[in-house]
Amino acid sequence: MTKKKRYTDALNHPIFEYISQAATDLELETYVIGGFVRDYFLKRNNQQDIDIVAVGSGIELAQAVAKLLPNKPKVQIFKTYGTAMLRYKDVEVEFVGARKESYNENSRNPVVEDGTLEDDQNRRDFTVNALALSLNKADFGNLLDPFNGLQDLESKIIKTPLSPDITYSDDPLRMMRAIRFAAQLNFTIEKKSFDAIAKNAERLDIITRERIVEELNKIMSSPLPSVGFILLHKAQLLSRFLPELTNLEGVEEVDGQKHKDNFYHTLEVVDNISNNTDNLWLRWAALLHDIGKAPTKKFHQTLGWTFHGHEYVGSKMAYKLFKRLKMPMNEKMKFVQKMVLLSSRPIVLATEVTDSAVRRLIFDAGNDIESLMTLCEADITTKNPLKFKKYHQNFELVRQKIKEVEERDHVRNFQPPISGELIMETFNLKPCREIGVLKEAIKEAILEGEIANDYQEAYDFMLKKGEKLGLIKSK
Ligand code: ATP
Repeated sequence: MTKKKRYTDALNHPIFEYISQAATDLELETYVIGGFVRDYFLKRNNQQDIDIVAVGSGIELAQAVAKLLPNKPKVQIFKTYGTAMLRYKDVEVEFVGARKESYNENSRNPVVEDGTLEDDQNRRDFTVNALALSLNKADFGNLLDPFNGLQDLESKIIKTPLSPDITYSDDPLRMMRAIRFAAQLNFTIEKKSFDAIAKNAERLDIITRERIVEELNKIMSSPLPSVGFILLHKAQLLSRFLPELTNLEGVEEVDGQKHKDNFYHTLEVVDNISNNTDNLWLRWAALLHDIGKAPTKKFHQTLGWTFHGHEYVGSKMAYKLFKRLKMPMNEKMKFVQKMVLLSSRPIVLATEVTDSAVRRLIFDAGNDIESLMTLCEADITTKNPLKFKKYHQNFELVRQKIKEVEERDHVRNFQPPISGELIMETFNLKPCREIGVLKEAIKEAILEGEIANDYQEAYDFMLKKGEKLGLIKSK
């Protein structure tokens, strides 16, 4: 008989010795399970999260482990879930007692009973997430793989351990997770499973928006986000939470004139930008940069298809979308709005670059000018190689121009050289409308290049402009 392979090299981290010792002391069968084991076999190096399952009390085990550990870490206990968590060195370890679950219609929170390791593996979402390695002294490192998850890892396939229809209906979050793993790991979803997702799509409505966004952000952070978005769309899930995006799908033709399919174009832009940035919010900006095109689309006899003001409309829609999905309403949302609003500006510049237009762009984009240029370059999805090259060269020119103008005029973090106080003092004014008018006029004159971004020139300009407004210089 061949001896079964032990995967002890997966368990090199010192934490496993401590867990194994505590399990022996308590006489608890104990295993490491889920993502950690999956990622070991996939040779992914993100093994900071460790899930431990004990046939018995996970909380007791966690407490016993903490006592053995040299730094005696604090154990965080989540009574409602029967789980406990502690940190040791670079890892975060979660302990849970093996359980059996049963679900009802309206909630993804199951009724839970104590169970065996097998019961616990049955409740796992995917075969590749049900792999467990033994931490028991007798067979340390032994693999328990009742659903052939290892084979599925090799075939790069997402399957559920039990019937997919029941698995997804019980906890519809798993539909998002299936697609997220497919995108993250470049796996395919087994056909039976994918069909069950599409069938249960409307069950997604019992999932909180926060959980949906969490998965969405992971899809967005994957190497080719379009893979996940196309699966979400095909499974009828995407329109349930991002109808703004799916409304961009389709090509209309009038008088022989077509516009591009802005849904698939958008996904290309997201993929392009993902090659150049890890910034999740810039990826979101790419996803939303054209959403204003659906409500602004018009066919014009001479101009053809137009999307007038779509950037402005899109930036307003981005605000509502963030709010609806309970996403952060802070500077991250403002950044996305700003990128959407400015997303066409460099494109206009690429055909005619004037100093004043460049100054205005730098002024409006501020420190986000670099991100904006990255977005605009990602927006080039033409399949014509000549045009592709030409557009990129044009943006290269815009970048150079931005650099030159910024070095000379310093408008990036523009602080007007004349303050409101100085205007009040100069013309002996109390707070009034004219102060704003003068400040705006100075700013405009600088951006237009009529005067330099310089105190003396701005001061002289203020005197002249003030005089025109009928203000009198105080002595
Ligand atoms: P990642 O860390 O990339 O999110 P993970 O698989 O570790 O991957 P977790 O959310 O930490 O994801 O879940 C840990 C394990 O718990 C999973 O591997 C899986 O076995 C199980 N699990 C998580 N969520 C579910 C769920 N909704 N239904 C069934 N099992 C789940």
